[in-house]
Amino acid sequence: MDIILLGPPGAGKGTQAGRLEDEHGMVQLSTGDMLRAAVKAGTEVGLKAKALMDAGELVPDEVVSGIIGDRLDELGPDKGVIFDGYPRTAAQAASLDEILSSRGRKLDHVIELVVDEDALVERITGRFTCGNCGEGYHDIYKQTAKDGICDICGLSDFKRRPDDNEETVRTRMQEYRGKTAPILPIYDERGIVRKVDGMGSMSEVNDAIEAALKLS
Ligand code: ADP
Ligand code: ZN
Repeated sequence: MDIILLGPPGAGKGTQAGRLEDEHGMVQLSTGDMLRAAVKAGTEVGLKAKALMDAGELVPDEVVSGIIGDRLDELGPDKGVIFDGYPRTAAQAASLDEILSSRGRKLDHVIELVVDEDALVERITGRFTCGNCGEGYHDIYKQTAKDGICDICGLSDFKRRPDDNEETVRTRMQEYRGKTAPILPIYDERGIVRKVDGMGSMSEVNDAIEAALKLS
């Protein structure tokens, strides 16, 4: 089963994709994570992407579609994929159709995470992760049990994404509204969009997604 998780920045796509990976053996393909890895490694893609990401603007379609195709080839046909943060434009949606059909795959569902945009800025600007084990936290909603120490691994090496500041978040929201939300009708016409309320707790949202995918 191949699915897309679609929703604005901060809607919880990454969190939910991680759960589907852990519980159902699917594989998360996050273009944001791949681009951040490329920036860190200083590759050609990373060099192109960095300034755009820091500004909250989209990276060119060919770049992200290229890395998605490459990653699918590495992965092989056996596992179902969760596209997280891709596609984000009509051109990327068209590329994804091509990328999937040329590999004998097809899109089964698009999960639309429906969220209250006002809540998102607070969600995003407060979030941070453990640089060692990757556990996610939030200044208000999910603090560490002991100040400054990761609950999971005990280290004190926390990170914030450079694009999680208010100004960049506003630009990311605009990009979502202007370029990404308009691709929903493409999938609606195919009857594969499942709307899920993204404002509940992590487990509630997970349950709703599993119900929509008939996994539970
Ligand atoms: P979020 O969904 O929280 O905004 P992501 O980690 O998905 O964050 O993306 C971070 C940034 O990476 C985006 O603001 C954009 O610059 C770039 N990016 C990620 N995926 C894509 C994509 N499919 N197309 C273009 N740019 C992308
Ligand atoms: Zn940790």
